[in-house]
Amino acid sequence: MPELPEVETIKRGLSPRLRGKVISRIIIPPDPKGDRMLRRYTSRRRFVRKVTGRQIVTLKRRAKYLLFELDSGETMIIHLGMSGQLLLRPPRATPPRHSRIIFTIAGAGEIFLVDPRKFGEVYLYSEAEGDTVVNPFSLGPEPLGRSFTPQVLGKKLQSSRSPIKVALLNQKLIAGLGNIYTDEALFRAGIHPRRVSADLTEKEIKLLHKSIREVLREAISLHGTSAADRQYVDSEGALGKFQTRLNVYQREGEKCSRCGTIIETMKLGGRTAHFCSRCQKKAKGKSKQ
Ligand SMILES: [Zn+2]
Repeated sequence: MPELPEVETIKRGLSPRLRGKVISRIIIPPDPKGDRMLRRYTSRRRFVRKVTGRQIVTLKRRAKYLLFELDSGETMIIHLGMSGQLLLRPPRATPPRHSRIIFTIAGAGEIFLVDPRKFGEVYLYSEAEGDTVVNPFSLGPEPLGRSFTPQVLGKKLQSSRSPIKVALLNQKLIAGLGNIYTDEALFRAGIHPRRVSADLTEKEIKLLHKSIREVLREAISLHGTSAADRQYVDSEGALGKFQTRLNVYQREGEKCSRCGTIIETMKLGGRTAHFCSRCQKKAKGKSKQ
């Protein structure tokens, strides 16, 4: 699933080419199972009517959401779900397989929203939409934002008895992390994924905060992670490069690059955590103080 670094990479690719451009046409190929991409929205006709002819003022990212701010004052929000891609191609390119929505951008080409598994979502957000849609602004802090300090992270974790892996996946607590970067940040911080969030020491929280920011920055600089399914590509269709730097994610059965112990997995909150049982401390941090 595209996480913060992947969505940021797509945004950086599209932004200079789309800013100030007009969405001149929208095609939504018929889907016998319904317009699942638009399922949070009222109707295809209303969506097409409200977005066609609008200018893209800016393109932003919030958590794992891409925000197209339109000159109508509304924001078109795209969440790529499990397998979504946004591909910018020259005009009249052949639509790739699984194209769910095709946006013609005057003077820039066509954007294909490709999504084989159809967990992606597209909708409009404005004050008037209120609670009928997910409001990305109501999520937890941006981990690369200035306001995200070790103190803020510590405060969020203090109130949680859930395993740290599960807490970090909670978008209301901290926004933008998914399975890849929670595993990698915990490995770098030397914290076992099952540790109780509220039990982390101040020192561990500082280290975790640093690890989260480091891993995200490195992943952005390498254009994200194209995991084993190779589903993630940027807006040009190119694979990311951070998969070569993964320490634990999808490396189960392989040797830890730091200590040689075999990387293991465990299920936590319905998700698979990848970790090194030697490098990542199981002990309650508080007992070591
Ligand atoms: Zn290790």
